[in-house]
Amino acid sequence: MAEDTIFDKILKKEIPCDTVYEDEAVLAFKDINPQAPVHIVAIPKKKVSGFDAISDLPADFTGRYMNGIRAAARQAGLTNGYRVVFNMGKDGQQTVDYLHAHILGGRELGWPPG
Ligand code: AMP
Repeated sequence: MAEDTIFDKILKKEIPCDTVYEDEAVLAFKDINPQAPVHIVAIPKKKVSGFDAISDLPADFTGRYMNGIRAAARQAGLTNGYRVVFNMGKDGQQTVDYLHAHILGGRELGWPPG
């Protein structure tokens, strides 16, 4: 059994977070090191290690997770648009081995992201 990540601990309420949105499929909270005026991390309430493992989640649950990401962006007031990012693996600069979406917004974002 893999060791708990920081996001497992947040989900178990062993460490606190600043919750933006929550439902039965997703917990969305403010990123501790924001890269935009609004930067939210949205984790599924079923654990997989990253985007490469997303097919291990039940398809209907994945749909509810995606809807939860959208609901979190709406809750944060991102009416002018936003970006959803899944960092995957070393080249993707993933640092926490628990699937998570970054929701970034609150300003016009640059492209390419670098
Ligand atoms: P990644 O680099 O894609 O794995 O993203 C991990 C994200 O989690 C980073 O943006 C971190 O700033 C964020 N993070 C790490 N620890 C916490 C925490 N305790 N609360 C909120 N966000 C966190």
